[in-house]
Formats: sequence, C-alpha cells, structure tokens
Amino acid sequence: MKIIMLGAPGAGKGTQAKMIAEKYSIPHVSTGDIFRANIKNGTELGKQAKEYMDAGKLVPDELTVKILLDRVAQDDCAGGYVLDGFPRTIPQAQVLEDALNKLGDKIDYAINVDVPDENIVRRMSGRRACLKCGATYHIEHIPPKQEGICDTCGSELVLRDDDKPETVLNRLKVYHEQTQPLIDFYTERNVLKTVDGTRDMKDVFNDIIAILG
Ligand code: ADP
Ligand code: AMP
Repeated sequence: MKIIMLGAPGAGKGTQAKMIAEKYSIPHVSTGDIFRANIKNGTELGKQAKEYMDAGKLVPDELTVKILLDRVAQDDCAGGYVLDGFPRTIPQAQVLEDALNKLGDKIDYAINVDVPDENIVRRMSGRRACLKCGATYHIEHIPPKQEGICDTCGSELVLRDDDKPETVLNRLKVYHEQTQPLIDFYTERNVLKTVDGTRDMKDVFNDIIAILG
C-alpha cells in the first residue's frame, strides 16, 4: 500500500503517518525527518536545507526529489510506504507519479488531514520534537510521560526552529500557494480522501483506518 499524507504544516500528518506505519507494517518516510537528520549530522545537504527550513520556505525540488526517490527505492519500501511531507509541490508529485508509472505502479491513497489555519499556530507552538528518533508530542494534547523527555528513546525534546510563530505563518502561506494544489491533483486521480484533523488523534486515526481497510 502506497500512501501520501497531505495537509498544512502541523495538521498531524506525522502523528498519523507513524500510527499508519505501525499498523500496516510499512516504512514512514518523512522528508522533513531526513533533512533534520542531515542537519544534525552536519552534512552538506543539511547545510543547504537548513537555510530554507529556518525561513519557512520549501527546500528546492532538485534537492528534495532525489533524496525521496533514493529512499523509496530501498528494499524496505518494496511492499509500500507512507509518505509524510512529500510531495509538497506539483512538480514533486509529477516526478513521483512518473517514477511509479515506470514500475507499473501508483499511489493508492492521498489522505488529506484537514485543519483550519486558526488551529495551526497554536498546535505548532506546543509541538515538541525528538531530533533523535523523530517522535512528536504536544505539550497540552499529546504530552510525553516525563516533561521534555522522549518516551521512545529518552532524548531531550525541543521546539523546532521552524515552529516559531513568525516562521509558521510563512509556512502556512507557502502551503496554500504551493502544496494545496495537490488536493486537486490527487482528486483528479481518484485517490484523495479527506479526514477532519481537528478531532482527537485517535478519532482521526479511526477515520483513516476506515478508509484504508
Ligand atoms: P505535521 O506532521 O502535519 O506537521 P504533527 O503530526 O507533527 O504535524 O502535529 C503537529 C502538532 O500537533 C504536534 O505537536 C502533535 O503532537 C499535535 N497533534 C497531532 N495530531 C493532533 C490532534 N488530533 N489533536 C491535537 N493535537 C495534535
Ligand atoms: P516537515 O517536517 O514535513 O514539517 O518539514 C519541515 C521543513 O522541511 C519544511 O518546512 C521544508 O522547509 C522542508 N521540507 C520537507 N519536505 C519537503 C518537501 N517535500 N519539499 C520541500 N521542502 C520540504
């Protein structure tokens, strides 16, 4: 099963993608996590990506597409995957579609996690992320067992540099301009399913399971 998560930054794509990955035993592939791992390890890709990320902009397609195609070509993705944060532009979606077409394959579902802009800034300022294992929490809605510490790996949780309110507003603008058109793109391909992302994370997940079967 090949699944794409769509939605504004902070809509809950990563939260749901992790649960989907676990339930259906497929890899969770997040381009944001790949960039953050590169930043942490001080790679050249990380240095280039950080500039864009900190400004709330998209990393250019030339850098993003290659890392994604390399990742989904790995053996563990042969039985499917859930993409979180990719594609974010029409050209990215087109490249992915062409690559899958060549293999006689296609995306099965594009799940659009719908959350209005008003809720997003509040969600992002409360988000805490583990840069080691990629786990995500919310200080009010989904708190870790011990404040500031990741339940999964025990590392310190941080407020992401790009979750500061002024950057979030930029990211929302970029989302509406460049990523939202993907809703039409996947509607035309008959794979778009929209869920109400304002509900409790378990309710959102149940809605998604009802779609995926
Ligand atoms: P995205 O991957 O779309 O950027 P995340 O999954 O990281 O979003 O979620 C953004 C923030 O909102 C996180 O702090 C997360 O813990 C919290 N969150 C996710 N889903 C819900 C939900 N259904 N209700 C309330 N908060 C949520
Ligand atoms: P995320 O963790 O998905 O919220 O992504 C964090 C940041 O990484 C985004 O704001 C972008 O700067 C960058 N990024 C992640 N995925 C992509 C993508 N598919 N295309 C361009 N930039 C991306």
